[in-house]
Amino acid sequence: MSEETIFDKLIKKEISADIVYEDDIAIAFRDINPQAPVHVLVIPKRKVTGFDKLGELEEEEAGKYFQTISKVAESLGLNQDGYRIVFNSGRNGQQTVNYIHAHIIGGRQMKWPPG
Ligand code: AMP
Repeated sequence: MSEETIFDKLIKKEISADIVYEDDIAIAFRDINPQAPVHVLVIPKRKVTGFDKLGELEEEEAGKYFQTISKVAESLGLNQDGYRIVFNSGRNGQQTVNYIHAHIIGGRQMKWPPG
């Protein structure tokens, strides 16, 4: 059993969030500390602790999760100018919350390479 994270509490509605999309599989909400004009996190409702554990989701669930990320980005109006999807994983990836989450970051020009 993995430790309870802030995102577990958010799914249980024990803490509030600015939710932009929700269905049976996934939930998307605005990042509390945005790094761009648009910064939304998308998590599957069934928990895996990180991108390295994506294989613990059923294939169909993982597929729907990825399609949701794409649909949410579109609904945020990001398709025309583009955006970035980030999964931070583990210590070197600077993952701070041990619950898989996709960052949708947009609304400004991104730089490469990332820091
Ligand atoms: P990461 O560093 O990839 O693990 O990203 C975790 C993200 O969660 C950070 O961008 C935080 O700003 C964000 N975050 C932490 N707590 C909350 C919260 N209660 N609501 C929304 N975003 C949060």
